[in-house]
Formats: sequence, structure tokens, C-alpha cells
Amino acid sequence: MDPIAPSELSAEIARRRTFAIISHPDAGKTTLTEKLLLYGGAIHLAGSIKARKAARYATSDWMEIERQRGISVTSSALVFDYRDHTLNILDTPGHKDFSEDTFRTLEAVDSVVMLLDGAKGIEPQTLKLFEVARMRQLPIVTFINKVDREGVDPFSLLSEIERTLDIRAIPFDWPIGAGSAFRGVWDLSAAKAHIYEAVDHGGARATDRILKEGDPALESILNTLPDKTLFEEEVALLSLEDNSFDKKDFLAGKTTPVFFGSALNNFGIELFLDAFIGLAPPPRAYPSDKGPIPPDSPSFSGFVFKIQANMDPQHRDRFAFIRVCSGRFVREMSVTNATTGKPLRLSKTIQFLGQKRERVEEAWPGDIIGLHDPGVFRIGDTLCEKGLFHFEGIPSFSPELFARLILEDPLKRKHLKKGLDQLAEEGAIQVFAQDPHGERDMIVGAVGALQLEVLKFRLEHEYNVKTRLEPVGYDRARWITGDPAKIDSLAGTLDTLRVYDREGAPVALFRNEWALRYVVEKYPEISFHGTSPRG
Ligand code: GDP
Repeated sequence: MDPIAPSELSAEIARRRTFAIISHPDAGKTTLTEKLLLYGGAIHLAGSIKARKAARYATSDWMEIERQRGISVTSSALVFDYRDHTLNILDTPGHKDFSEDTFRTLEAVDSVVMLLDGAKGIEPQTLKLFEVARMRQLPIVTFINKVDREGVDPFSLLSEIERTLDIRAIPFDWPIGAGSAFRGVWDLSAAKAHIYEAVDHGGARATDRILKEGDPALESILNTLPDKTLFEEEVALLSLEDNSFDKKDFLAGKTTPVFFGSALNNFGIELFLDAFIGLAPPPRAYPSDKGPIPPDSPSFSGFVFKIQANMDPQHRDRFAFIRVCSGRFVREMSVTNATTGKPLRLSKTIQFLGQKRERVEEAWPGDIIGLHDPGVFRIGDTLCEKGLFHFEGIPSFSPELFARLILEDPLKRKHLKKGLDQLAEEGAIQVFAQDPHGERDMIVGAVGALQLEVLKFRLEHEYNVKTRLEPVGYDRARWITGDPAKIDSLAGTLDTLRVYDREGAPVALFRNEWALRYVVEKYPEISFHGTSPRG
């Protein structure tokens, strides 16, 4: 393979922005994603993502599950070019039960767009996702959507953000009127108005009509506002406040730039995108057990943050999604899976360009590639071209809800095993055997109840296996390491159940916190771990 010129590598890194949109369901994430693609020229007629989502919605009994899977399944990561930048958008599943998946997704991005519904402000899911983004120290840009709706009060939205999230909100633009009197947004630093012109529900890009302060055309538009003085006073007030923007504070997550607009009406998108590519940071260095790996390190490295099976029901395929962390990825390259020590050749690769799924020949830090996975990857695996190291901090999770999975048709045991193996490798559930050979009913664990329902649904629809879930009264799991004889003696303890994880490692399930504490105190020579020591 040709060596890469350092200048080419740094130019590719500098061009890239990899981010996720965090929001509460219905704030407009699908619509905004679609509009970003439209502005990037990646799709020509907006509506495709929506149409697919709507079709699924209509035909499914499992509305919530299917709705969740709608966009996420087909587009875990989308890539598009905007001006001279390449943007990767990673999808974050919205439902609270999918927080683990989201957690890992946010490990693979460099910044976050927090999308709010202007009439609703901060909603529970926004808050939860915001906390994860903050924990990951990601810079956050805010887009307040639906300014064409009644009931949008920009000042109280800003103070709600500051009060609830404890982050300084700095407006970059300001809505001119709201609801039916919405006229556009005022670019605060350029002191120019971007005048809203209704487009046919967003099928085409809207060209902003930009008017300068004092322009008679602007005056006559402002004169149509129900309260022109209020708008002028607001803008005057904003200029008095200390809204000076310090990029360092933004990158440190102390402030969030705020933009207003309407995704549905293609309004404020361009102003936002133009600012976003300047504000959002390029790919970062990732911590590893050999120290931080900077993106411009010449050899390729990346990690698996998501595994998704059956993306296309027609093809029983499975993909591992990799975030490229350093160097250049070239199809057919040989790498080592540092986690398993196995050499690999990376040949079957995909990327999602708008609606299209395409083969990836080359990728750079910040890019997301899907690798066809014959079952060799696990979440958190590090891939290295040269040298061996492990990226740190991709969390595996400790389930809090357990159920016994009962197979309705005993002849389908093989199918069940295959389904459970694949779904467990996606990382949404964990599977435990009650005996080392897995002959008795399996116990499945998840973070939330919906995940267990999704499991049952997918086993039936994707693997043709009918199952029943029976609650078991355990609510926490601990991986156990230490003297095997001592571990064995744990078996008969009251209020605990000894099981094995998929790798055969011993795990204990506990009925409650009290039972856990009792066992931890009684067996000081055994160590108890909240997540698998492997992960
Ligand atoms: P998601 O659940 O966050 O992906 O939200 P969607 O993109 O599906 O949008 C939820 C609803 O809000 C849909 O009916 C959209 O048409 C609507 N919507 C999205 N953006 C806007 C907007 O700017 N203005 C108005 N009035 N409605 C919007």
C-alpha cells in the first residue's frame, strides 16, 4: 500500500466532523437529518427517510419497536459532504431503554447537536442524552426547532437550558417573530436578517433571502410583526448582555451556541450548518492502554462501537460498525483485532451515502465504516494496522432486568441459539446459561423491559422462533473471579443464582442489593465485577 503523505492525512482529518443528534422523540431528528442530507446534496428529494419510517409505522403492530428501528436500522451512520467538509452523522436511538447503545454511539463521535422542540424545551430524553454527552466531554451545539409553531419563547428557552443543564447558552441567531408571525432569524454577529420564505414542505433547498439592518425591505417585513418593538428590544438586550463566545469554553462543554430554525420548512439549516462546520471539532485523539492515539498517527486504527444483524431482512447479513481513529483505511487491508489477537483482511465494507449503501474503498479518521461480520467482532474490539493497543472506555453494560427465556417449540433449539448469539453480539441483551453446557433454559438480561420485548419480537420475526419470557426475581449481575473452589461454594447461597455468560465465565445474579452485599462480605477472597472483565 502506498504510504500516505502526512499533509494528505492532516487535510482529511481537518475536513471531517463526526457527530450525533440528541433529542427527545418527535423533536424533529429525522426531519433535521434529512434536511442536512438535502443541503449536503446527498439526497435530492427529502422525504425518503420519513417515508420509510411512516411505512413501517403503518404496517407494524409493534409501532414503538419498529419506529425505533426505522431510521436506526438502515442508517446507523450517514456520511455526506457539505462545502469542503465531510460530515458523518451517527444515529442515536431515542428510547430510554436503548441508552447503552446510545452510550457507545456517543463514544464514536466528536461533537453533539442537541435538538429541542421550541414549544416544549428540554424533555426527559434530551436531559438523559445530554448527561451522557457531558460525561463524554463532548462539545454541544443547540438547534431549537419548530420556531414556526406557536408558544416559542426564546428567552425562557435559553434560561431553561442554563438552569436545567448547567451550561451557558449563547444565541448565535434570534427568531424574528414566532408561530404564524415567524418571519425569519436574525444573525446576531453579522447583524443581518435571513428572511423566511415558505417552501413546499421542504422538498427543495430554501435560498435564504438576506437583508441588512436598515434595508427598507427589512423594515417593511418587521412592520408586519405583531410587536416590532419587542423584537428590536430583544436584539438590543442581547447586544448588551455578555454573549461573547469563547471557543475554548465551548470545546470544554461549558457553553453551547444556540441556533433557531425549522427543519420541516428548511429554515435556518444553512446558517446552522455553516456555523457548525466552523465550531465542531475535527476528529480527536482516543485514549488507549499505550497512551492517546492521535488521528494523524500514520497507521490505521479503529474500534467497533456497534454490531447490527439483519439490517436487510432479505439478506441475513451482519455488520460491525467501526469508528476510524487514526491513519487511513483502505479496503483489503490487513489488520489485527487487538482484542482477540487474530489477523483480519477487511474486504466487505459499506458506508451509507444518503439512501445508498456503498462499498468503502478508503476512509479517514472520523469516518464510520460497516464491516461485514461473519461473527468475528465484539463491541469494543480494537483493530490495528501496526502495533497492538486497546482503546479504552467502550463500556459493556450490567443488566438490571432478567427473565427466563422459554422455547415454545423444543425442536427449534438450534435456531434459538443462533438468534440469541447474534442478538447478544449486537450488545442489546446479555445471555446467561444455567449450566456450563447451556442445556437448561437460558436467562436473558437487559437494561430495560422494552429490550426484552424487542428480543422476543426479533426472535420470532427474524429467526422464526417463538419464545416466552418468565420473570425471575433477580435484579443485578456480578462477574466473579477468584479461587474456583470458593466460586463453586457460592452456588448454594440463598438469594443468588450462579450462571455462566456466553464466554463461559461465571456470573452471579442477586435478588437485591442486600443479597449482593451479604455475599460480597461473606466471600472476601472473591472479586465481584459490575461488567464482564473481558469488556
Ligand atoms: P423525531 O421523532 O425526532 O425523528 O421527529 P420527526 O422528524 O419524525 O418529527 C416529528 C414531527 O414534527 C413530524 O410530524 C414532523 O413533520 C414535525 N416537525 C419536524 N420539524 C418541524 C418544524 O420545524 N416545524 C413544525 N411545525 N413541525 C416539524
